[in-house]
Order: sequence, then C-alpha cells, then structure tokens
Amino acid sequence: MAPALPPNRRQNRLFTIFLVGLLVLSSLYYMMEPGVNDEKSFASAKEVPISAITQGYVAKDYTEITIRGNDVYAKVESGSYVHAYKEAAVTASDLGWNDPKNPTVVKVDNIELNNFFKAHIGDVLFFILMIVGIMWVFRSIARSQNSAFSFGKSRARIADAKQVKTTFKDVAGCEEAKHDLEEIVDFLKSPKKYSVIGAKIPRGALLIGAPGTGKTLLARAVAGEAGVPFFSISGSEFVEMFVGVGASRVRDLFAKAKRNAPCIIFIDEIDAVGRQRGGAGFGGGHDEREQTLNQILTEMDGFEKDTNVIVMAATNRPDVLDSALLRPGRFDRRVFIDKPDLIAREEILKVHARNKKMGTGIDLSSIAKQTVGLAGADLENIMNEAAIFAAKRAKKKITQIDIVDAVEKVTIGAEKKSRKLTEKEKKITAYHELGHAVVGHLCKESDPLHKISIVSRGAALGVTWFLPKEDQYTTSKTKFLDEICGLLGGRAAEEIVFDEITTGASNDIERASDIARGMAMRYGMAEELGMVAYGEKQGSLFLGVDPSLARNYSEDMAQKIDEYVKRIIAEQYERAKEFIMQYREKLDTLAVMLLKQETMSVEEFTEVLDGKALSPMEEKAAKE
Ligand code: ADP
Ligand code: MG
Ligand code: ZN
Repeated sequence: MAPALPPNRRQNRLFTIFLVGLLVLSSLYYMMEPGVNDEKSFASAKEVPISAITQGYVAKDYTEITIRGNDVYAKVESGSYVHAYKEAAVTASDLGWNDPKNPTVVKVDNIELNNFFKAHIGDVLFFILMIVGIMWVFRSIARSQNSAFSFGKSRARIADAKQVKTTFKDVAGCEEAKHDLEEIVDFLKSPKKYSVIGAKIPRGALLIGAPGTGKTLLARAVAGEAGVPFFSISGSEFVEMFVGVGASRVRDLFAKAKRNAPCIIFIDEIDAVGRQRGGAGFGGGHDEREQTLNQILTEMDGFEKDTNVIVMAATNRPDVLDSALLRPGRFDRRVFIDKPDLIAREEILKVHARNKKMGTGIDLSSIAKQTVGLAGADLENIMNEAAIFAAKRAKKKITQIDIVDAVEKVTIGAEKKSRKLTEKEKKITAYHELGHAVVGHLCKESDPLHKISIVSRGAALGVTWFLPKEDQYTTSKTKFLDEICGLLGGRAAEEIVFDEITTGASNDIERASDIARGMAMRYGMAEELGMVAYGEKQGSLFLGVDPSLARNYSEDMAQKIDEYVKRIIAEQYERAKEFIMQYREKLDTLAVMLLKQETMSVEEFTEVLDGKALSPMEEKAAKE
C-alpha cells in the first residue's frame, strides 16, 4: 500500500497538531482565566453600600469594578476589594459608571455562563478528546495491514507500468518459459492483432516450478516487458479470518484490474486457495477457500471477450490444484520452470554479479559446476554471501575465494571454527570422512569427489563433498549400490582403524537405508520382491517432494522388504570395508595430511591415492 501513504501521513500530522493544540489551549485556559484567581479576594471583600462604590468611581479610587449578577466588586489600588449589592434591574450605566473619561475598568462578569463553563469545560474537553482518540484508534487499525476493518478491499499492491522495471533480461536461463510468455506479452501489447482475426485472448497462465526458480520474477518481467500495470497478491492473503472476505477481495481485485486494463493480475502461491475442492484429504472442505476459488473462477469466466486482463498464477504444487482451474478458458497456459542447468546457472550468477563490485579473473563457470541442483534464489543468495564475505574481509572487490566460501556456506552450512573437538574426535572424524572419500572414489558410479573437510559445519563434524553430475534424470541400480557403499565408507573406516564405532555415522546410515528401501518399494529393483510398487503415494513425487507412503501390502511383504534392505546394507558395508582394508596405508597418509591442513582438495587426494609413490618424508609421517 506504499503509494497511498503520503496523503495519509499528512492527515496524521495535521491530526497530531490538532491534538497537541487542544491540550495546550485547555491548560492555558485554566492557568490564565483571571476569575478563578480573584475568587478568594472576592470572598474576603469588605461590605459597603452601593452608593459608596459610585462615590469611589467618581473619585477614581478603583482600578476595576466587576459586576457579577447582583454583586459588585470594586478593586482598590492596594489590591483588596470592596463588595456591594445592586438591584437586579440596575445596570452599570444606570449607576453612572460609564463616563468615558473615567479610567476605571468596568467588567460585567456573566456569572451563570461562566460558572457553567468552568464546571463543565473539563467534561467537554474530555469528551472531545475521547471521541477524537477513538476515531484515531479506529483509523489506525483500519490502516494497519492485518485489518479487520478493511477486509473488503483487496490488498493487491498496485505497481504502475513505470514501476515494474523487471524485464526478461533480469531473468537468466528459463529460455523455454520466456518463449512461452512472449506470446502473452504480445497479447498485452497489441491485442487488436489477435481480436481482428477472431482469436480469443488467453485468460490465464500458470507458472509451475520449484521454490526459488524465478516464478514471481518471470511474472513481473512479463508486466515489465509489456509495460502494463502489475497487480500482485498472494494466495494466502485471500484466506483470512472472516468467511467471505477472500471472495470479496477477489471481486475487488478484478474490478480494479478491469479499470486498469490492459494489465496483469498475479496470484502467487495459488495452491493456498486453489486446492482440490470438497471431499476429505487435504484440509477437507474449507469453506472460505472454496468460496474464494469459486469467485476467482467466476471472475475469469466473466471477462468479456476483449477484456485485456491476463491472470497469471504461480505454484509449486500443481498436483493439488483443483481441476476446474486448469480447464480451457482459465489457466489453460501452463509454463514449467525447471531448475537451472549448468549454462543457466552461470547466467544467473552473472545477473547477480551485475550490481556488485567483482574483482578480475573471476570464474563463474566453475561456481556453476559446483552448484548442481540449486535454484535461482540460492544462486542469488550465494552472490550475496560472497559480497558479505568480501566486506568482512575488508576487500574492495569480491574475489573467487569469497564466492567459493559462499557456495560452501549456502550448500553445507557455515563453518564452526569455535567448536573444539578433542584430538581423538578429530582423528576419528578425519578417518570417517576419508573413508567416504576413498570408497566413493573407488566406486565407479559414484559422483566425483570434490573436497574433504574436517571443519565443523552446521551439525556435521566434517564433510566429504561429492559433486553430482549434471542433468541426471535416471539412476541405475549400480549407482544406487555405489551410493550406499560410499555412505557406509565412513563407518567402515572407523571400525577398521579404531575397532570402535561412533554416533557420527547416524545420518549416513539413515540415507543408505532410504536408498535401499526406495530400490525395493519404488523402483522394483529387488529380484525377490518383483516389479511391484509397494506403498500408496499420498503426496506427489513431483518436484522432489517426497510422498508419504500408506501401507498397501501384506505383513509378509513388509518382512521381505525389511530383509532386502538389511541384506543390501550388509553387503555394501562388507564391500566398503574391503576397499578400506585394501587402501589402509594410503588412508593413514591421507589422515595425517588432513589432520594437519583440515581441508583437502580432490587433486591432493588423488595424488596420494592413485599410486604416486610416497616420498620418504611422507612415509615417515605416515608411520608416526
Ligand atoms: P519463486 O517465485 O519461483 O519462488 P522468485 O521469483 O521469488 O522465485 O525468485 C527469488 C529470487 O531468485 C529472485 O528475486 C531472483 O533474484 C532470483 N532468481 C530466481 N531465478 C532467477 C533467474 N532465472 N534469473 C535471475 N534471478 C533469479
Ligand atoms: Mg514466488
Ligand atoms: Zn559420514
């Protein structure tokens, strides 16, 4: 609501001035009103006949005469008063106190009115203040975002055409999505071209992609490219405390948009309102959501043929959307946005390097290689963390090492140098990580090794970092087995070297078991179980969201699955142990190195492991 602020703020300031003014005036009134101070002197005034005062007036004995009802008080120069009674009908001029040449001041104090005023001014002021105060409270509540008083109004933020500066240039990669959306830009720019031929302009486009892949960014870019206003609202904003509010917000939003056509309405996270209606399952019948969704559908149907408003929506859960939303004439265009590939990642990194001070000789393509599977938002985060590192290190420009550190921070967590391990723990950690590295390196199908570190990060005491290969959409059984073997390499090294096992491998074991279970239940890779999928999906596999499996198999099968998992793990553990025993000596050499330098690159590692003869120095070090 930012654009609406200035007038509001001015009102607010006026209002504050008014309040303060009122307070100052009322206190001044109490301080300066003379009658109040005179009251005591009046009470102690000496009684005289009225004629004496008239004489005193003529003799100019008094500085001031106050007439209050039938009482007359005359002030003698010394400051004291005399008091007399006059008759009700007699006025000052009747008494001859109106001589223009006489300097005595004659005041008529209207006692009735004055008394009333004095008695009630406090109440009146209080009353005014209270009303004003209540008004103020109501207004500020109404203005506040989560207002219960402004519920009918849509909170879509209106950005003028001028304000949306985002264009397709700001969106790196996503070439296919951009290509699909160019059509919409063209509809908005030159609707005539299409209407003349009799083509109906599409109503809606649904952007589908994992979180952080740039859906919101793309929608803004479409508005920016077409130069039209952009109304954006988040699905969750529709669902609020009162039933019916969502629907009225939708009505309001669409009315506003139609007035501003051509324009774009963007509903972010539409799955918040657009879930499958009715029935049990997700949230059951949620009345408010259903009404809101119905209203959106009605509004989209109600567009006239030439209404040049395009509704865009974004979601990362297309599987839960109500099918009515996907019907032709509604969100019939579906634009999929994938996680960026190698080239796109480099482009995205470049986009976010644009507004930063970059040093020379920076190699963003190597960073792109290290960031497989990350989305645009993560890459943006990496560049920002790199800038923070550079600033912390008091550099003028960002260097490669800052970016590399940022990648590690974002992907595995910040280093915890303060965590002090005992010598023994450190040694076990070194052998554990090297166990992963050795086994992983020797398994043919394992992802390539990248780096080993025994600096604590997050919850982990050490990290062995493998870089997943690019663009792998399927995984072979051999790869699964090699992965399990690599995961168990840490525990295998611990057992062989120290003849003792620690808790350090709990996460490895969990992941290995998950893989084995997946092989049995999802991928039909276990001969004894057959090509059967066990367990019923409750979520969706889409976009890597792991489904929870409901049991739809017999007790007998459950036992067989467990046996399979157990067997696979045991086999791979034996295999890992064999690798470790075979390379035991080199493992010792590597451990000495790793303990000394704390991190080890893949080059250093392979140099030792892949046969270069040990130098006498190294041999000696290894024996110690
Ligand atoms: P989503 O809406 O899909 O969750 P956003 O559009 O909010 O993701 O993206 C978050 C941020 O990540 C954007 O503001 C942008 O800075 C960055 N980003 C994501 N994808 C890209 C991209 N393809 N090119 C450039 N920046 C991107
Ligand atoms: Mg978003
Ligand atoms: Zn481990």
